[in-house]
Amino acid sequence: MIIDKLKRPVRDLRISVTDKCNFRCHYCMPEEIFGHKYEFLSKDKILTFEETIRLVKLFVQLGVHKIRITGGEPLLRQELDVLVKMLSSVSGIADIALTTNGYFLKEKAETLRNAGLKRLTISLDTLDPQLFKKTVGRQLELHRVLAGIEQAVELGFSPIKINTVLQRDVNDKEILKLADFAKNNGHIIRFIEYMDVGNLNGWRMDHVVPAQEIIEVISSKWSIEPIDKNYKGEVANRYRYVDGSGEFGIIASVTQPFCGDCTRARLSADGKIYTCLFASTGFDIMTPMREGASENKLFEILQSLWLERSDRYSEERLSFPDTSSERKVEMYQIGG
Ligand code: SAM
Ligand code: SF4
Ligand code: SF4
Repeated sequence: MIIDKLKRPVRDLRISVTDKCNFRCHYCMPEEIFGHKYEFLSKDKILTFEETIRLVKLFVQLGVHKIRITGGEPLLRQELDVLVKMLSSVSGIADIALTTNGYFLKEKAETLRNAGLKRLTISLDTLDPQLFKKTVGRQLELHRVLAGIEQAVELGFSPIKINTVLQRDVNDKEILKLADFAKNNGHIIRFIEYMDVGNLNGWRMDHVVPAQEIIEVISSKWSIEPIDKNYKGEVANRYRYVDGSGEFGIIASVTQPFCGDCTRARLSADGKIYTCLFASTGFDIMTPMREGASENKLFEILQSLWLERSDRYSEERLSFPDTSSERKVEMYQIGG
């Protein structure tokens, strides 16, 4: 097992399979920038499934045993089920999860489950159909996402995780409604503090709804208590409803950073490795791979990237909260 400069092993690999998305969430791909003329990556600039699997096998040798598929919107990648199937047969991978906006889930969930997908996280910021159109930046229908969630439950993806990014004066009045929805349907909702990922979303600290406030709002209606993390490195702080009706999580990356336990590496669709969500650059592994580098050479590159890693951006942000001048990778490129 190798460890980075802060003694953290690499356990999880997040693979972004496309930079495209059918939503234009303001905090990730604002429409003003990602309009009709925006040029996304062409097919030849995106890792093939074979190249992805080659890298996954090398990451397994370094210590990775969990994969999360993300995007952009991963369900827009053609034949994603083929990649899931290929990942399922890599020995050493114990878990394959997917994060999606859920819009195409109803149609695709069954093929993905049959291919070996184990867990699903679905992003949902509001239960109000009008606000939904506003938050996703397009005239799209909330009921499609809800139908996708229902379909996933029927197929046995349970419990479903729901990711909700809370933004001040956008959806902060919906905490109880969303918590109730999750509780009644057996889902685990995780409220996420809005993060300053990238440079395009105009993030400000006062847009963040802090974890403490989320806890106060939920406790105003239900008795809750903290519970232990499922494993070291889990990003969400967990809470249970004392009446036994379920649990929820809070990902407090802004007010209570967890860099000390961060075991995640990220691979973008264009074949760059990022050792932090807030990195300014990624290491282009696609080029040496396409120029014929051997497995040993690629392994050495990945190993040295991890050995040199010292990222702890969110902890540093606590002391220097104005990060607007730093150049950072965008969320749609690495998928959270
Ligand atoms: N398109 C898929 C989706 O939305 O689930 C996968 C990619 S998306 C980038 C992954 C997750 O990152 C989503 O749950 C999204 O809400 C979250 N996210 C995006 N931008 C964020 C930000 N600035 N702060 C916190 N979470 C963010
Ligand atoms: Fe698309 Fe997900 Fe980004 Fe929203 S958060 S724009 S759904 S990639
Ligand atoms: Fe990991 Fe970087 Fe996030 Fe810290 S800021 S938890 S190092 S991704």
